[in-house]
Amino acid sequence: MKKLILALAATAMMAGAAQAQSYPSRPISMIVPFAAGGPTDIIARIVGEHMSKSLGQQIVVENVAGAGGTTGITRAAQSKNDGYTIMMGHMGTHGAAPALYPNLKYDPAKDFEPIGMAAGTPILIVAKKDFPAKDLKEMMAYLKANSDKVNQAHAGIGAVSHMTCIMFNSQLGIKPTAVPYSGTGPALNDLVSGQVDYMCDQIVNLVQQVKAGAIKAYAIATPVRSPALPDLPTTIEAGMPDYQVTAWNAIFAPKDTPKEVVTALTTALNKALDDDATKGRLLELGGVLPTKDERGGKWLGEFVVKEVARWTPVLKDAPK
Ligand code: ASP
Repeated sequence: MKKLILALAATAMMAGAAQAQSYPSRPISMIVPFAAGGPTDIIARIVGEHMSKSLGQQIVVENVAGAGGTTGITRAAQSKNDGYTIMMGHMGTHGAAPALYPNLKYDPAKDFEPIGMAAGTPILIVAKKDFPAKDLKEMMAYLKANSDKVNQAHAGIGAVSHMTCIMFNSQLGIKPTAVPYSGTGPALNDLVSGQVDYMCDQIVNLVQQVKAGAIKAYAIATPVRSPALPDLPTTIEAGMPDYQVTAWNAIFAPKDTPKEVVTALTTALNKALDDDATKGRLLELGGVLPTKDERGGKWLGEFVVKEVARWTPVLKDAPK
């Protein structure tokens, strides 16, 4: 009996190893917890395309929007941990969510195998193109004077566009009407058509529309200007120096996904980040690439712990 059990265990281990070696043998689903066309989706599709090439299997982006990204991440966290479901999380789903969702069904620090950082995304303050302010100072004055009349778009409680505008609004002492969307892709469409007044959003979603003059950009919340929009002043230059925030998007797998699979995914992500064309597309949209030190699962796992600790007090006390 003992022999039989040992034999069975050995067979199971070999099957496991063979499975890991042949990974991936079918398409991989990458859950993006926001609507298609938004920043998280854009980044997922850019890195996913190159990862598909090096893994030899298609990474299929699946948009599962809702509740500021927590619906999709909950689903991904509860998926089979065999490497065929992974996800693009971000500063909201894996940083802000615990402070804003008391009944959150996942722990960003414990319920995932971090694969690696995909791209940092500086935050821009943008408004509809006929917003009556020529620069950030005028915008701030207008918002303060018309706080009860203006609408601010965001992608749900805990989304980056929500949490970073909580910071922006509270620095101005205003409480505009918030208009939630399933992602800042659709929110941007309404900003372009003038149905909402302003939002705080990740640069990769915005560069094309800013360049086309379809929306107005007032400032980038980083200490230095972005090469993707060199004419856009920083918040320091424009008069709101304390408003500094860069978001991030990173790939995770469900907890206890086999080590070999995690390694294969991290390697594929790193290859994508080293690929000139992939890099070029991210940089052109204002994405900030992780340095060599900021790559891989170990760094990301430690970073997520720090992000949750950083955001929890800020968001718990902020006026919502
Ligand atoms: N990243 C989200 C999106 O892709 C929006 C957000 O977090 O604000 O739409």
